[in-house]
Amino acid sequence: YDDRDGKIWLDGKLIEWRDANVHILTHAMHYASSVFEGERAYGGKIFKSREHSERLIASATQLDMPLPWSVDEIEAAKAETLAASGLEDAYVRAVAWRGSGEDMGVASSRNPVRMAIAVWPWGAYYGDAKMQGARLDIAKWKRPSPETIPVHAKAAGLYMICTMSKHAAEAKGCSDALFMDYRGYVAEATGANIFFVKDGEVHTPKPDCFLDGITRRTVIGLLRDRQIKVHERHIMPEELEAFEQCWLTGTAAEVTPVGQIGDHTFVVGDLTREIAAAYEKLVRE
Ligand code: PMP
Repeated sequence: YDDRDGKIWLDGKLIEWRDANVHILTHAMHYASSVFEGERAYGGKIFKSREHSERLIASATQLDMPLPWSVDEIEAAKAETLAASGLEDAYVRAVAWRGSGEDMGVASSRNPVRMAIAVWPWGAYYGDAKMQGARLDIAKWKRPSPETIPVHAKAAGLYMICTMSKHAAEAKGCSDALFMDYRGYVAEATGANIFFVKDGEVHTPKPDCFLDGITRRTVIGLLRDRQIKVHERHIMPEELEAFEQCWLTGTAAEVTPVGQIGDHTFVVGDLTREIAAAYEKLVRE
């Protein structure tokens, strides 16, 4: 994966994929001073590109590492990297971090803020589960309180428990893990938001301690366009049994049906299919 042909955008210019390295004393590697975006291009155009660039800047600002690139500069850099990849449908990863420098301790303001963009092909995030319904394990870790960590930043540090929980889920034969939050409410999966359907209405956790995904907001728009009621609220895990359908949303996950959470099963129903199809259509408009 490292030693291959291709281009990566690094700090302002395209370089060879295999040369896109950083120093071992990179601050981000030691202290998680890193933020990123996951985006998808469809037909040569990045869906909601500007929103992703704005979120990258907002995440970096929350980590006290203001980016030396504007939204327009990031937009141009992503377009240039996508064009260089020759791909029409692709995953786009932008990442910004504190590099190596004079600061070797926790404080890092003297070290440069760096940025890279890479583009590669990435099919269905949950593989076959995309149509059959993913199985989710309940994570043992909880999404933290907004008083603990900047929960709305897409920051590397918030993904440590995601990786651990996803490993544990996969070891049990599940596709992903579902987190509760620090209060015990249903929160999100390790890289996607969650929706439930009951009696023709939709319920989704209120994003007050986790990422309010761009796909989540897009899907809420698709539902409201169809006059379907969407309740953004606190959901207790005991309520799962009463829900009939369930799906995940995320840039990588798109709209993926969920077939099972713990012991409770869901049907891949008409509304799930309709919204998945509507999303697939919208991203190519
Ligand atoms: N939650 C987490 C933890 C994520 O990593 C993602 C993917 N970025 C999402 C939710 C969904 O966000 P989006 O729809 O903006 O991709």
